[in-house]
Parts: sequence; structure tokens; C-alpha cells
Amino acid sequence: MANNSNRETLGFQTEVRQLLKLMIHSLYSNKEIFLRELISNASDAADKLRFESLARPELLGDDADLSIRIELDKDKRQLSVIDNGIGMSRDELVDNLGTIARSGTAEFLEKMTGDAKHDAQLIGQFGVGFYSSFIVADKVTVETRRAGLADGEAVRWESDGQGEYSIENIERSERGTRVMLHLKEDQTEFAEQFRIESLIRKYSDHIGFPVSLLVADDKEQEAKVVNSATALWTRPRGEISDDEYKEFFKYLSHDFADPLAWSHNRVEGKREYTSLLYIPAAAPFDLWNRDAPRGLKLYVQRVFIMDEAEQFLPLYLRFVKGVVDSSDLPLNVSRELLQQNPELVAMRSALTRRVLDMLEKMASGNTDDYKTVWQEFGQVLKEGVVEDHANKDKLAKLLRFATTHNGSDEQDQSLDGYVGRAGPGQDKIYYILAENYETATASPHLEQLRKRGIEVLLLTDRIDPWLVDSLAEYDGKKLVDVARSELELPEGEQKDEEDADESEHRALLEKIKSVLSDRVESVKVSRRLVDSPACVVAGDNDLNPQLRRMLEASGQPIPESKPILEINVQHPLVSRLSAEPDEARFGDLSHIVMDHALLAEGSQLDNPAQYVQRMNKLLLDIDSGATNEQ
Ligand code: ADP
Repeated sequence: MANNSNRETLGFQTEVRQLLKLMIHSLYSNKEIFLRELISNASDAADKLRFESLARPELLGDDADLSIRIELDKDKRQLSVIDNGIGMSRDELVDNLGTIARSGTAEFLEKMTGDAKHDAQLIGQFGVGFYSSFIVADKVTVETRRAGLADGEAVRWESDGQGEYSIENIERSERGTRVMLHLKEDQTEFAEQFRIESLIRKYSDHIGFPVSLLVADDKEQEAKVVNSATALWTRPRGEISDDEYKEFFKYLSHDFADPLAWSHNRVEGKREYTSLLYIPAAAPFDLWNRDAPRGLKLYVQRVFIMDEAEQFLPLYLRFVKGVVDSSDLPLNVSRELLQQNPELVAMRSALTRRVLDMLEKMASGNTDDYKTVWQEFGQVLKEGVVEDHANKDKLAKLLRFATTHNGSDEQDQSLDGYVGRAGPGQDKIYYILAENYETATASPHLEQLRKRGIEVLLLTDRIDPWLVDSLAEYDGKKLVDVARSELELPEGEQKDEEDADESEHRALLEKIKSVLSDRVESVKVSRRLVDSPACVVAGDNDLNPQLRRMLEASGQPIPESKPILEINVQHPLVSRLSAEPDEARFGDLSHIVMDHALLAEGSQLDNPAQYVQRMNKLLLDIDSGATNEQ
């Protein structure tokens, strides 16, 4: 690290360089959002100082009124955003403005296509930030002094956004940060008083600090406060417009798109707190990263306490953004103390219910928005069914599936819809688990159900085996896997038919079983097949094949179990098998029937080479048989 006055030139981390390029290119048509981002950073800095000063009041010194100021100088083409907040030390400055700490950033940036519209949406998922300044500026200078450090320990950071930045120690008497933009030649509109005044109003009316404007050629030379400086969530609901709610969301989340919905509530009585919760329109790029930031912004009596307080919502609602402002929690509450706080359990369950209510309302009303919710967060909501037993019923109503009814892979059918369509005698909800939609709809296990017009849920998500396990039933109807041995279909007479079939075909079944004894648990006459000669099913206590494959892939030991082979005695291939006099050929045919049953459910063959050999032999036999007959 350089000593006091040393000026250093450093290169941006590769990701920063990519992000800079991308910002400038893809957000050009929304370039004014840089101001929102800078005001948002300034307000966060003021929030952080107020919080730190709770324990160390001396940090505020004689400059205790936290505020934000914007200065314009049209002649010099300059716009500055100045705060007297927490500021940054030299190390913090390098860390914060030279690198991006979020893991997964590199992979995220790879998804960029160069198409401005597409990329603008993606960048919203990442969070726009300080770097958006370079959309309008060809040089940015940051001067900052960390609260608690001496005048001489201030730092200047400067960059043209091309790949490098310089950093040097300076003298600065004020605490906090000045971000000075040197505007590009064609961006002088951002040095215009009228333009900036209206942007400040738009972007900062909901912030709890005064934002003032000072114009260089202003005769009075006095900054005037432009915003109302009342934190949005502290205002009565009826006085807040939709646009204000949307703006606040963007300020809060650095998102670029409007939220889909929000819920603003004040709880009074034994426990007092205000919450403002948002459902974003797109999942963040790191939704599946366990360490990704999540959670609400926590305030206590309007004093900012922490970002990403993840204790207020369960993990499966990690996509929700918002603020909670408590009157009861102690101001010195830490993450550890929060975890032990008895208030928290009640707050967490109330907030969870609020989010679920909001989703339920969307699900039953505005279907397009809910479609987006399901597309973006459906997989995560499924985790809820597994993890949150108290809200299982509420969550079950939110689930959406592809089924044999809609005939497409879109997950858009609810369980209520399914139950409504079920015939009067149907007391079960049938489902199939498969690797993908194609395997699911083509599965032989569906044939009989399809023939009888019984709807089946087509489950292809990784989490689905756990989902059906946890859900177990809905509306008094048991969830039933169509690929399990004891499949009960609505009409009762089936069982007798099957028993008759079993005894009639016993000899054949036993013969096949003796050939396949290493591969199958048993061989049975099937009631679920129509067009296919055979299928394999799992015993009722066995793991289903999806789960088995997943556990195998993750290297977990799993108990050995053999499937049950079911054959369709109406099928010509089975008649052919039964009439086969040649023992060797009977054996080959039986193995092939078994192999095909496995392939049809999406399983892999243990010995594909052997299958190919048998198949080739059989094809040659057919050929020579045909020649013989002539
Ligand atoms: P984000 O605000 O989403 O974290 P930014 O790129 O806008 O991302 O900012 C990076 C970091 O730089 C912030 O998290 C904050 O720590 C620091 N920072 C930015 N502006 C300021 C400021 N005005 N005062 C203090 N710290 C700041």
C-alpha cells in the first residue's frame, strides 16, 4: 500500500471492466438512473453513520445533521453528489469501487449478449450501482473521508471508466463522500437545474434525509431542500402513489424494473412495526447461490440497523425485498441477538403470511403477473412446501404444474383446477416424476390413465420428489405416483380382472421372471398399459428412479432394489413372447422388453452393449425368418 501522498494507478478487476462496458451500452436509454443510484448510495452512507454513531457518538462530531447535497456547475459540466455519511477509507475505496465481491459475477456477465434490451433486463437482476455514473460521465472523481479518521486521511479516487483508476491520499475537512461527475459533452442536460430538480424529486422524495440542490450560478448561493425527506414507509398508505412505491423499490433494490406487487402494513398493539414488502419481477442472478445476499433492510425506530436481515423471512422467500421498521427491538440489536429475540418468531411468521397472502391475491387475480412469479420463483416456492409445514396448505394453493390436461410443458395448472376436473369417483391426485417433459408425457405409465381421461401431473423439477413427499395430499385427495406398483385407479372392477389375468398368465410371468431374475423383483400383469408392451414400476417402499438417479449422481450410498416389470398381456409382442418355442430367443426377447421399459422411463441401461447385441441378433433373425417363409 502506498504511503500518505502516494498516487497509485490500479486496474479494475476484469468483472468491473466488463460491467462498466455493459452499463454504458445497455442502460443508455435509461441513463438518468445514475442519479438514483448515487443518491441511494449517499443515503445508505448516512444510514450507516447514524447506526455506527449509536455506539460511538463522537463520530458525528459537530456535523450531526445528516444530509445529501447535489451541486451543479453547467459551465464546467459538473454534477456532484455529496453526503456527510460514513465515508470510505483507502482500503474500502479500493474494495468497493475497484472490485465486485459478489460470487458468480463472472458467470453472470457471460450471459450478456450485446443486445441492449436483453442486457438491460439482466443488469437489473444484478443491481445497477455506482458504475452507472459512467453512462453520462467521461470522468468520475470520488473524494471521501471515513468517519473517525483525521482530515489528512481522506482519499481521492478518479477514473475515466476505461479500465484503470487512480487513488491518492488528500486533505479533506468534511466527513463523508463527494462523487463528482464530469459530464460527457452530449450529457449537459444533467447540469440543468430544472432537469435535476425534477429527478431529485422523483428519486429521493421517499428518503429520510434532506436532499438539497446548489447551482453554481445561483445568485443566492444557497442550497435549497428539494425532497420531502420522509422515509416512505413511515407515511400513511393512502398518501403514497403507485409510482412512489415503485420508485422506492428501485432505490431499495437497485433493480431496474418495476416490482410486481407490494404490501405495506403497520402493526400496532403489543408488538409495533411497519413492513413494506415487494415481489420483484425477476429473480436475482444468484438466487441459487447459498451465500448470496438476501433479506430485508432492518430499521429500529427509523434508524437503519442492517441490510440483508435474513431472519425475518424463511429461506424460500429469499427473493422478497423490503423494509421492516420495528419499534420494539433494541437499537443495539445484532444478527446474533436477533436470532435469539422472542419477538422475531412472531414477526417472521406474520411477515411470511403477508408475502403468501400477496402471492395468493396475485394467483387468484392477475394471472399474467402470477405467471411471471411462477416462472421466476416457482422452484423456490416449492421449497416452502418441503420446509414450512405451518404454511403448507397456503403454499399448495400457489403451486402450478404441467399436466396431461394442458398438453404443454408450461407449468400453469393449479391443484384446485385439477381437483375441479377430476371425476366424481376419483379420490386421488395422480402424478408422474420424470427427467423432462418429453419423457413424462411419452411414458407408458400414463397410457391407461390417458385412455380413461384421468389427468396426471407431470413433474420434472429436481425438487419434485421431495415436494410430493411433503405434500402427501391435497383437499383430502392422496397424491399417487403412477409409476408405483400398487396403482389404484378409480373403478373397482379392475382388481378382479387383474387377478384373473395373473392366474391365466402365471406360467409366462414365471418364465420371464426366471430369465430376468437378476434384474427384476417380480413380473406382473399390468393394468396401466394400453399401447406399450411393458413398463417398470417401483415397489411402494422403494426410492423412485428420479430420486435414485439424483442420489447416485451426488455419490450417496443407496440401498439396492430391483424394479417390478409389468407386462401388457394384450400386446402382440407379449403374445409373440409367449408363443416363442426357442429358449435362447425367449431370453433375448425378455431382456429387450425389459430394456425398452427402462429406456421409456428415462433410465439408462447397465449394459447397453449387450442390448445392442441382442437387438442385432433379433433383427437378423427377422430377416432370415422372412427369407425362409418365401
Ligand atoms: P451497491 O450500492 O449496490 O453496494 P455500488 O457499486 O453502488 O453498489 O457501491 C459499492 C459500494 O461502495 C457500496 O456498497 C458502498 O459500500 C460503497 N459506497 C458507494 N457510494 C458510497 C458513499 N457515497 N459513501 C460511502 N460508501 C459508498
